[in-house]
Amino acid sequence: MKILLVEDESSLREIIRRELTGERYVVETASDFRTALNKCDDYTYDCILLDITLPDGNGLKLLEHLRATGRSGRVIIISARDSVEDKVKGLELGADDYLPKPFHMAELSARIRSVIRRGHPEGGRELKLGNLSLFPERFEVRVDGRPIELLRKEYDILHYFISRPGHVVDKETLAEAVWGDHIDQSDNFFFVYAQMKNLRRKLREAGASPEIRSVYGFGYKMVDEKTE
Ligand code: CA
Repeated sequence: MKILLVEDESSLREIIRRELTGERYVVETASDFRTALNKCDDYTYDCILLDITLPDGNGLKLLEHLRATGRSGRVIIISARDSVEDKVKGLELGADDYLPKPFHMAELSARIRSVIRRGHPEGGRELKLGNLSLFPERFEVRVDGRPIELLRKEYDILHYFISRPGHVVDKETLAEAVWGDHIDQSDNFFFVYAQMKNLRRKLREAGASPEIRSVYGFGYKMVDEKTE
């Protein structure tokens, strides 16, 4: 699950980023309106945490833009301006929730889980390819119904591929999606290579029918032999 945190106050931004990263979210940050706007146009996020008062614009304008351009993704407004007008306007513009500052991190995480789950009322969305299933809300992976143990980044990589069966994904895109933009590119490629190797071995040993293949010179793609 990928989150965009739009917050201009650096200490708060860092606290939230750390907390959510610890909860296995991929967190990207924007400290101003312009950066947030560019990121929203270039990437998709499962949830956006949106501050209203930004140095170069109003967060509500970003929300307006997102809804006008039909972008998916949940939005939680985090604002120090606990005004009824802002709250009403935010919800009218299609925000999923509104959390006034200051708040406890536990409360923020609960709200995030809740808005993400709201999109999937059964609370048990399943991504399936061949005999392999991944349950995003539970961070769980099964092969023929039997759970398999993956490390965090192996899981994140698998999540990315099982959401895009048959699509060729290049290393840069994968690194960006799984590690976010907080890490040096050259480190990323080493990590991608190492984690990919372990993930493939675990899938093979568990008897998974889909596999992640190398596409020489481009990257990787996930295919299921039986459905190909
Ligand atoms: Ca602010």
